[in-house]
Amino acid sequence: MNTLFDVSGKTALVTGSSRGIGLALAGGLADAGVRVVVHGRNRDQVDAARSGLEKSGRVETIASTFDITDPAAVADGIAAIENEWGVLDILVNNAGIQRRAPFTEFTFTDWNDIVATNLTGAFLVGQQAARGMVTRGSGKIVNIGSVQSQLGRAGIAPYAATKGGISMLTKGMCADLAVSGIQVNALAPGYFATELTKALVADEAFSSWVRTRTPAGRWGDVADLVGTLIYLVSPASDFVNGQTIFVDGGMTAVV
Ligand code: NDP
Repeated sequence: MNTLFDVSGKTALVTGSSRGIGLALAGGLADAGVRVVVHGRNRDQVDAARSGLEKSGRVETIASTFDITDPAAVADGIAAIENEWGVLDILVNNAGIQRRAPFTEFTFTDWNDIVATNLTGAFLVGQQAARGMVTRGSGKIVNIGSVQSQLGRAGIAPYAATKGGISMLTKGMCADLAVSGIQVNALAPGYFATELTKALVADEAFSSWVRTRTPAGRWGDVADLVGTLIYLVSPASDFVNGQTIFVDGGMTAVV
């Protein structure tokens, strides 16, 4: 049997997997035989997502509801997972938020919330998960970036800054952790219809701009992200480290 893409039996935390992209990624991992921690702050949504995954008979899951912006909660949350399963092989740093406003109208609170969730949250969860991975001498971390790390667009300066930060956080983590047998890469999606983008989907002019600006001629489907994630957490990518891979229908390849 070809084991290049075999991830079965591994354990993974996908932050923000109660809906949207995170839920699709958790489902993809579950389909590949990975035990998954379903995570988000809203317990009801986490439980609904879990029962959806378990109903299809896929794999064992754990619920987790820590706030990724709270260092003590992150430490407790990761410890609880490691106590339950003994090991955390894979971390997908996916949880994130977006707020849109003209640059001069963003509040200090907006800026702090976006940075705390998208960048500080990825740092805190990444650091805590990496500690156990270093001890075990192996681990795979995938940080979810965005095409906005490359494209300047009006109305999302704080979000774009955090996603640019994710690409450099990924390189820095790789530089420190590769020697311990850990890979840290980023997966950067284009435009996908989720709760985060629902106002954009509803705006026909914007929605049509996405289709025109994307060489593939359409919005992404969350299922489009699963193959790249499996690649990044499987033995097939063992020598790939510190990279940001865009899954965007070609959006960042063209002007
Ligand atoms: P959603 O809003 O659908 O889901 C976000 C998830 O993150 C939810 O599970 C939410 O649960 C969780 N979350 C948010 N804040 C926190 C927090 N402080 N602590 C714990 N969990 C939290 O977003 P998407 O699925 O669209 O986005 C997922 C990721 O993909 C984000 O990083 C986003 O930036 C990125 N991305 C999305 C794109 C898109 O087109 N949709 C494009 C490019 C990147 P709860 O609110 O209950 O905590």
